[in-house]
Amino acid sequence: MKMACSVTHIMKDNEVIRMLKNQRAIIHEGILSDYDESQVVVFGIPFDGTVSYRPGARFGPQMIRNELDGLETYSPYLEKDMVDYNLCDLGDLPLPFGNTEKVLDLIEKEVDILLEDNKRVLAIGGEHLVSYPVIKAHLKKYKDMHIIHFDAHADLRDDYLEEKLSHATVMRRVYEQLDTGEVWQFGIRSGTKEEFQFAKSHTNMHAFNLEGIEQAIQAIGNRPVYVTIDLDVLDPSIFSGTGTPEPGGASFTELMDAIGKLTQLNLIGGDIVELSPSYDQSGVSTIVACKVLRELLLVLGDNK
Ligand code: MN
Ligand code: MN
Repeated sequence: MKMACSVTHIMKDNEVIRMLKNQRAIIHEGILSDYDESQVVVFGIPFDGTVSYRPGARFGPQMIRNELDGLETYSPYLEKDMVDYNLCDLGDLPLPFGNTEKVLDLIEKEVDILLEDNKRVLAIGGEHLVSYPVIKAHLKKYKDMHIIHFDAHADLRDDYLEEKLSHATVMRRVYEQLDTGEVWQFGIRSGTKEEFQFAKSHTNMHAFNLEGIEQAIQAIGNRPVYVTIDLDVLDPSIFSGTGTPEPGGASFTELMDAIGKLTQLNLIGGDIVELSPSYDQSGVSTIVACKVLRELLLVLGDNK
């Protein structure tokens, strides 16, 4: 029997690390390794402070944990089992309200420590802006990192209502941080004319569907890759529980297929964002998020 994950050692030096709050000792038989032996570390970022339409994504991580009981550890898609990997959950970051920059700074510092400990990180949002500090932390370690971005929205605005930091600007901010890495976008079907024009000359955007992953795999080769999955890339018929639903999205099978292809890449971290449980009337969206979490954990855990 594995021991439940303990984070006491990363509370050294009185850092801002206070992850014990909200922590569930055992959340799932596939995610209960000790921190020290874990290859991949999950943690929640319950922040939705810049959500532009329907708020509530802050409740995503806890709802995912509630629904994990029904999740099989085995993935028939990947033919891999979570029990064969060392995975742990650190609970949710305790975050203040009303100060976006401070929140992003706190997130970045947390991820810095996890990366110093040579962990692979899988963050659960929260809204999409939380990807920005997680990616910034990774770029300090992996300078030539590429970004694979699944989303209904381009998220390439320079500002949103004059705010530079927003879930509608997150990929623009990420793009500005990249060195030799590039942004590869899939499933995009909403944005301003300016965003689509920006994408033409600055990112590799594959609109409307998830085709084109092979092209990314070939171009990226063995360089490090971070994947950010905004779950609204899925069609609202399978994933209605999100703040800004967009019809015409990917099917669940298409997303599983795309995640499976990520095994060909040197995937070093990722996040799953924008589940907003208040709009998940059937509870199916949360179950979908759990399955995406399992698949991504297995792909991250497999990367040696
Ligand atoms: Mn997004
Ligand atoms: Mn989106």
